[in-house]
Amino acid sequence: MVQDEDLLLALLNSAPIIEGTPTDTLAGATGEKFSARFGGTGSAAERTQIWKMRGCLHDAIRGRDDAPQHLSLALYETVLIPKVTQQGLNWELRTHPDKMISARAAIAWSRVLEEAPGRLRACANDDCNLFLIDRSRPGTAKWCSMATCGNRMKARAHANRKRGATAQS
Ligand SMILES: [Zn+2]
Repeated sequence: MVQDEDLLLALLNSAPIIEGTPTDTLAGATGEKFSARFGGTGSAAERTQIWKMRGCLHDAIRGRDDAPQHLSLALYETVLIPKVTQQGLNWELRTHPDKMISARAAIAWSRVLEEAPGRLRACANDDCNLFLIDRSRPGTAKWCSMATCGNRMKARAHANRKRGATAQS
């Protein structure tokens, strides 16, 4: 698990579709909790940065062409300063306090890509807006969770096959 992986997943999965309705858990009181959980400022400006970053990272994971450009804008004036020790370099993140959480999420996203290439994916259910980091050995996980999307999609595929079979007979 990379540093801030929990923050990354919490951010990516903060816009679930519940019973067909897109929801946003970064709004209102749950958004305040999110900020507090990850040591944020809780300001409205911070919320805007977090929203922006979520959109950027969703687009990047879904392979949208303009994602890198939007991400660079979101990370404007964010730097890593080397802290040199006998053991090597530690990188200290410097940015505006309201951009701290979103910048940490972006760094975690990049580290996951490096450490586990191809393993960060959107759930294969098109009606779902959740993401997963597949750490299974075969690396074939498709669903945010087997209990929800996995079973639902399997049931749907089964129903489709049955329908196909009936149509043919
Ligand atoms: Zn899902």
